[in-house]
Amino acid sequence: MLPAIPGTVPNLTRLPTGCAFRERCFAAGTKCTQTPALMPAGNDDRQVACWYPQREAHHV
Ligand code: SF4
Repeated sequence: MLPAIPGTVPNLTRLPTGCAFRERCFAAGTKCTQTPALMPAGNDDRQVACWYPQREAHHV
């Protein structure tokens, strides 16, 4: 089971600019005001739409 993200889900009719998760994301940074594009997640076919996919909670 995936863990829940703390905080309140944004109003879907008024999503924040940039990444929709940025107001609740522990890893959010300056780039997150811009919508992330899908990019390769590693050496396989997976993709991720996140500016800082490698950040972990203890780094912030
Ligand atoms: S770190 Fe990734 S998931 Fe978090 S707000 Fe930025 S783009 Fe969104």
